[in-house]
Amino acid sequence: MRNALPLIWRKIKSRYNLMGSHCQTCKKDYFPEKSICPTCRRKGKIVDKQMPTEGKIVCFSKIHAAPKGFEHETPYFVALIELTNGVRLFTMLVNAANDEVKIGQKAVMRFRKIFEDGEHGVIGYGYKFQALAK
Ligand code: ZN
Repeated sequence: MRNALPLIWRKIKSRYNLMGSHCQTCKKDYFPEKSICPTCRRKGKIVDKQMPTEGKIVCFSKIHAAPKGFEHETPYFVALIELTNGVRLFTMLVNAANDEVKIGQKAVMRFRKIFEDGEHGVIGYGYKFQALAK
């Protein structure tokens, strides 16, 4: 198995909703979620916060040699996305096979199947992003 089930369930809130954290002391957003604000440390007051589902592509790469379990997806794009609140996350891009991915391009979150474990019947879901045509 690629991922233990308990790990999947623990991360499900974050995977499904882009749930991150917000520090009420310094007003910064964090994703993935944090239990302690890296800036304020013990003075920070951390609460859950839904991250925006839109952003722009900061940089990207086309993957030809994929890790085990993703071979059937090649070639595909991975990208660093800067969300509208400034938070950056690394993600796979969907529907980007036409080589029209550009830096600065708008991208939106899409919910997708990430992997299927045939032997155990486990299907992992999570976020990917789709680059939007201008
Ligand atoms: Zn803080």
